[in-house]
Amino acid sequence: MTDLKLFNSLTRSLETFQPIHPGEARVYSCGPTVYNYQHVGNMRAYVFADTLGRVLSFKGYDLRHVINITDVGHLTSDADAGDDKMEKAAASQGKSAWDIARHYQSVFEEDLARLNIRKPQHPRATDYVEAMIAWGKAIEDKHCYRLDSGLYFDVTTVPDYGRLARASTDEGESRIDTVEGKRHAADFAIWRTTPAGENRQMEWDSPWGRGAPGWHIECSVMSAELLGHPFDIHTGGIDHREIHHPNEIAQNQAHACGPDTGARIWMHNNFLVDRRRSGDLGKMSKSTGDFLTLQALVDRGYHPLAYRLLCLQAHYRSELEFTWDGLTAALARLNRIALQIERLRASTAFQFVQKQAADGQLQGLRSRLDPVVAKFYLQDFERSISEDLNTPKALPIFEQVLQNKKISLRDRVRLSLIMDQVLGLGVEKLSRKALRIRPKHDIRYAFTNREVDSLIHARKILKSRREFSASDLIRDLLTADGVGIMDGDPLGWEWKL
Ligand code: AMP
Ligand code: ZN
Repeated sequence: MTDLKLFNSLTRSLETFQPIHPGEARVYSCGPTVYNYQHVGNMRAYVFADTLGRVLSFKGYDLRHVINITDVGHLTSDADAGDDKMEKAAASQGKSAWDIARHYQSVFEEDLARLNIRKPQHPRATDYVEAMIAWGKAIEDKHCYRLDSGLYFDVTTVPDYGRLARASTDEGESRIDTVEGKRHAADFAIWRTTPAGENRQMEWDSPWGRGAPGWHIECSVMSAELLGHPFDIHTGGIDHREIHHPNEIAQNQAHACGPDTGARIWMHNNFLVDRRRSGDLGKMSKSTGDFLTLQALVDRGYHPLAYRLLCLQAHYRSELEFTWDGLTAALARLNRIALQIERLRASTAFQFVQKQAADGQLQGLRSRLDPVVAKFYLQDFERSISEDLNTPKALPIFEQVLQNKKISLRDRVRLSLIMDQVLGLGVEKLSRKALRIRPKHDIRYAFTNREVDSLIHARKILKSRREFSASDLIRDLLTADGVGIMDGDPLGWEWKL
């Protein structure tokens, strides 16, 4: 097998993945702050983390993947000024912070499933507050100082603070409001004591007064509790490379009393940039208020997997521009893939191969491949994904396989199932019918899918009776409604939007 090379933000270089525990891969991804819906930019971070996990599984590692749920502690800025995002959302929506967290967590989990993101472990920060307090106590003497507003970490007490961000101690946060009394601009809260006279819904007793943990401490604690330090890979969006992850590293070093950064490899996905309007250059972000959720894409007629494909078409370290045209092209590409897959699924070879590898075991599928086919196609595919998860290069190999008649039908089925373990497009059930989603607010679509089916059935009967003017009338009605009739489709698939 080809070595897996991953770009480590710590060293800014490609490194060969070598697991800490033989045969295992342990991955921690910073999860959502559940005070609002996740936008599709956020979801890019999880498609990336899922792809990483899938590649590790493909390579034979036993994967342990954690995506935490931040339900406390994250302020409206990444540092220590501003309101708590959860408390603020609760106040403005007139709900309890706990209800807000449960609601947005469940929507997040549905979105993960709709994007075929495999189910990771989802610990909630509020379940780990005791462990966070214990961590604070352990590092307090050597690394922290107290202010009225809480317990703060002094970043000059660890070696090389900010190596990940490539920033000096004071650089990273100069743009952010600072807290009165902090020794260095980059110092950050381990614990935030509730100010006298202020009411918080989420607060706990601690040696530093009643209050709530800082945001950064939760990821140090949850990764240590669930994966053990050091673990293999920590992921997040590229914004986390500047503040959140350097702070996690500082806490990990303080706790380990040494230079160990907690995770061996730190990986960051680049932004989804919103280009729906010309001149719009910013990353998609919740603070603008004008962000797109996955559901908003579905409401406009785009299947969630078209968005997954859009993400896979770009390398995770490149910026990805979001435009409706781009998403439309991804959906068209997915439709072509679905057509090929439906053809394969309709063959007896599909049932045969499925039965052979009923447990979905990759090894079983691989060992039965014709060696020449394996050498050309599978090796190429594997080389691409081993180059720092180069999915844009792997996708066309997958597409070639689907339609290459020089490969036996059984091997095409085998290869598609094998490659889909990495791509996650759902070869076993992807269909053009499922991709045919009608935009919610488009008045053009007067007919329901079922009515379209009935009209098409009626048209067929009329045509067989040679009543062409009536059958043409039906066709014109449907065309005006945005429905394209596909006479002669090889799989008898009769219409598209
Ligand atoms: P949050 O819920 O704000 O903590 O963000 C969840 C994840 O989404 C983090 O890993 C962020 O770095 C990432 N993220 C935020 N905005 C974008 C964006 N526009 N493109 C890609 N990733 C993003
Ligand atoms: Zn985190």
